Amino acid sequence: MAVTFKALYATETDGKSSVAFRDLTEAELPPGEVVVDVAYSGLNYKDGLALNGNRGKVMRKFPMVPGIDLAGTVRQSQSPEFKAGDAVVATGWGLSETAWGGYTQRARLKAEWLVRLPAGLDPKRAMAIGTAGFTAMLSVMALEDSGVRPGDKPVLVTGAAGGVGSVAVALLAHKGFKVAAATGRAETHDYLRGLGASEFVARADLHKVGRPLESERWTGAVDTVGSQTLAMVLAQTARHGAVAACGLAGGSDLPTTVLPFILRGVNLLGIDSVFCPVPRRRAAWARLGSDLPKDKLDAMTTVVPFARLLALAQDILQGKVRGRTVVDVNG
Ligand code: NDP
Repeated sequence: MAVTFKALYATETDGKSSVAFRDLTEAELPPGEVVVDVAYSGLNYKDGLALNGNRGKVMRKFPMVPGIDLAGTVRQSQSPEFKAGDAVVATGWGLSETAWGGYTQRARLKAEWLVRLPAGLDPKRAMAIGTAGFTAMLSVMALEDSGVRPGDKPVLVTGAAGGVGSVAVALLAHKGFKVAAATGRAETHDYLRGLGASEFVARADLHKVGRPLESERWTGAVDTVGSQTLAMVLAQTARHGAVAACGLAGGSDLPTTVLPFILRGVNLLGIDSVFCPVPRRRAAWARLGSDLPKDKLDAMTTVVPFARLLALAQDILQGKVRGRTVVDVNG
């Protein structure tokens, strides 16, 4: 009898999606060059959307194994790039959208979707970082490329106590930036201070209609919230500063004017982690291996067994999850 492994399996009937744990065999996996024994997946905001009625139509093909990221060990490879035993991570590339994702004990993937883990990261820490942390790294790299450097004014991180926000705070503080953390949860201030934040902004102070240009407060920003918040952040960014826009936790609209761009030379930098090109992807993971302090990463991480995933997927949409949640698919 074929060996089975456990996966979360999503189906759609009459336009309504549902998910349930199921035993699968390797023969049922989609084609690809590399079979991975998955050790951990992550819980990201987008996973919350997929697992709660497929909001935002995250999953676009059924049946689907959801989970936008995974880390584990290569079991079998038909690609010269990888061999059995290699520790690897996969994020994006349509996992949980058009390709089977990480909520499974075994996966078969295209070789080009995998990144070998750099020194200093094992599969558990790779998923503690996950898509969220990878996105935070891409945001910090984009700010650096745009010329943002540590100086008098802080860098602002919005949605700071979330996954992307927590990693961004830790990375920026480690690089010598003063970090201001915007959060709607005052009870997370000590946690954020522990990651390196030295100043706090109440979420509500950014979520309001301001003037097209406000006093210059930030040398740069990582924004995970979008909407009115991003408009306010742009209006408060100092001359020739930059804002990395990577999220929409507060909405996907952007009610702003061109004034921050044409009167202050503020740059708005778009961050897409899903189709990030391979060389930049590898560079970002290498930097995550070297630049993200492990004690801070561990402090923001909660590991949960596979069975708790569905309950936590509801919490993340309600903004109740702090930092990063790692899913032990064998636990
Ligand atoms: P989390 O849910 O972990 O974090 C989001 C944080 O945003 C919350 O913790 C909360 O922070 C804040 N927040 C929640 N709701 C609101 C609201 N209504 N208004 C203002 N702030 C709010 O999610 P992730 O960190 O995984 O993802 C953050 C965002 O980044 C999401 O929109 C996600 O879709 C996007 N993303 C984009 C990627 C890309 O490739 N561009 C990749 C990964 C994520 P606090 O309590 O501190 O206020």
